[in-house]
Amino acid sequence: MSDTIFGKIIKREIPADILYEDDDVLAFTDVSPQAPEHFLVIPKQAIATVNDIQPEQAELVGKMVLAAQKIAKDKGIADDGYRLVMNCNEGAGQTVFHIHLHVLGGRPMTWPPG
Ligand code: 5GP
Repeated sequence: MSDTIFGKIIKREIPADILYEDDDVLAFTDVSPQAPEHFLVIPKQAIATVNDIQPEQAELVGKMVLAAQKIAKDKGIADDGYRLVMNCNEGAGQTVFHIHLHVLGGRPMTWPPG
């Protein structure tokens, strides 16, 4: 699979405000924030869409959620609350085809989303 912009961030070919990294996941601030806190958690392994996640990757996806939780706590938004979003395919607004967890917080969230 050819590299997406997130693949280039993983390889440090383009800059990002990196918040967290371990062997499996990377987290960085979204370049176009939709809330006072908006960051993305991605697996280092390239998976194009949520539709492509395999059962053996369940632990990896769990690690993405745990990284989101840790960063939200570190940023002090965990108690007030935050939103996790994964857009799957164009119809849901996905623009980068390397799965990513949006973490949005720091303001009240309405439901349903637009
Ligand atoms: P999607 O629309 O695929 O769910 O989300 C992609 C997200 O990636 C968007 O919120 C967009 O602002 C963010 N994004 C796109 N290109 C870059 C980039 O080069 N750097 C960073 N930090 N975020 C990006």
